[in-house]
Amino acid sequence: METGRAWIEIDRKALGHNVAVLRSLLPKGCELMPALKANAYGHGAVLVGRELNKMGVRAFCVACVEEGVELRKGGVEGEILILGYTHPLQFPLLEQYDLCQTVVDYAYARELQEYGERVAVHIGIDTGMHRLGERCEQVDRLCRICDMQNLVIKGAYTHLCVADSMAEKDRIYTRQQAEAFYHTIGVLRNRGYQIPRIHLLASSGVLFHPELGGDYARVGIALYGACGDMEGYRQAVQPPLRPVLSLKARIASVRELQPGESAGYGLAYVAEKPARLAVLAIGYGDGLPRVLSGGTGEVLVGGRRAPIAGRICMDQTLVDVTNVDGVQPGDVAVLIGSQEGETVTVEEMATRAGTIPNEILSRLGGRLGRK
Ligand SMILES: *Cc1c(COP(=O)(O)O)cnc(C)c1O
Repeated sequence: METGRAWIEIDRKALGHNVAVLRSLLPKGCELMPALKANAYGHGAVLVGRELNKMGVRAFCVACVEEGVELRKGGVEGEILILGYTHPLQFPLLEQYDLCQTVVDYAYARELQEYGERVAVHIGIDTGMHRLGERCEQVDRLCRICDMQNLVIKGAYTHLCVADSMAEKDRIYTRQQAEAFYHTIGVLRNRGYQIPRIHLLASSGVLFHPELGGDYARVGIALYGACGDMEGYRQAVQPPLRPVLSLKARIASVRELQPGESAGYGLAYVAEKPARLAVLAIGYGDGLPRVLSGGTGEVLVGGRRAPIAGRICMDQTLVDVTNVDGVQPGDVAVLIGSQEGETVTVEEMATRAGTIPNEILSRLGGRLGRK
């Protein structure tokens, strides 16, 4: 019996379905390297990592060393690549927990070299996003990185920044990024450097540019089945990916309001006629975006859509259930997911909140239970 105030439910079957669909889309010889950063986009990193291990997934990427350590402590096996910066004082953790570090640029490679112990790395190569990675034009610097005795080079990768766009100029930019990447890898390999595994595709790369290849695909949002809002998604993905996460909350109280009465902070909700409000035990402290206040967002109660009433609080949210019969305290409301045939997707919530599903999911708080 579920007793929580607000919680996340993870659909194992949907995760398995998405793994199978994505594997069928991957270029030949390419393996999944799921992104488990930000607590696996709110899904629970250890939970998802262990499930994926059971499905034969043997490589993962995370944003920071703490996330890698958490996965290892939780028993997740296989290669774990840290995509972001690790402070030199934390370099011992890399060996201790068998983590692979990204070389974020040439200066950082020197810090890794000066640490004095052997560290496993993937070299980040910047082909046009201009975020992390040594610039692809800096072939000499890349060669010097490869020459560093303490760096055990396991791979090299780049990141595409407009692969989700169908605009012709963006498709051209993506192809140019890929060409620059393969050209740079070719030069390094021709000079005799061993670069075992290379990768460049994230979710939108796999969905819209699978021909660009690589040995790994660093899929995040597609794995979680939350990219239905991407332009071009319908044509590219058959059968569709399935949402893995649902977000639910308990109804703490149901209250009747007389016409003219108001509710919540700022008395922002005003009952124009006799109204009924349900109080959900979830708020922005759990990651529910506060911009969904005042009817901008809708939730499911009794299988019907109910608009958010007034201002979302830190721990509570009022919803207008005047048009829903039989709502009782203790009932469950669905904020993301389905109830009696009606659905609110995270894509819909993100659009209403003026953001992308990735942000909504990654901000779902640690206060939520997961099952
Ligand atoms: C977050 C991230 C990914 C995963 O991106 P999705 O679009 O969610 O698939 C892949 N690569 C890098 C470098 C990332 O930062």
